[in-house]
Amino acid sequence: MNTHLTAQQRNDIALGTADAAASAHLAVCVRCHAEAEATAAALASFRLAAVRWSEQAAVRAWLPQSNRRLKVAAWPAWALAAVLLVGMAIPLARRQSPPPAAVSAQAQLSRDNQLLARIDTEIGASAPAALQPLQNVQ
Ligand SMILES: [Zn+2]
Repeated sequence: MNTHLTAQQRNDIALGTADAAASAHLAVCVRCHAEAEATAAALASFRLAAVRWSEQAAVRAWLPQSNRRLKVAAWPAWALAAVLLVGMAIPLARRQSPPPAAVSAQAQLSRDNQLLARIDTEIGASAPAALQPLQNVQ
């Protein structure tokens, strides 16, 4: 064969679809072999670039959905944090102001103490209250 391989024949060799005559020429011609190697390297580089682009496109397409999943997954954490804050705030609010029952218990205790003091005064007196005006007459 006097002529070298065409670009189409080199592409067919790179794709593995070359005919027997082109493969036979490739085996004996150093120039066509080098050109076929360059074509194969260019096709491999193009395939690698296409794969990388598709992987990046897949990642870009997946990221918004991933963000949505993260937001949904973050809901229990936010709810737990809110419950903890409310749970911590309630005891603090209770400590700041005494409950009304305690206030009324203190008032009742004060009234009871005053009543006991009056009872002690009346018991400690030498004459009952009804007879005390008579003690002053003497
Ligand atoms: Zn050749």
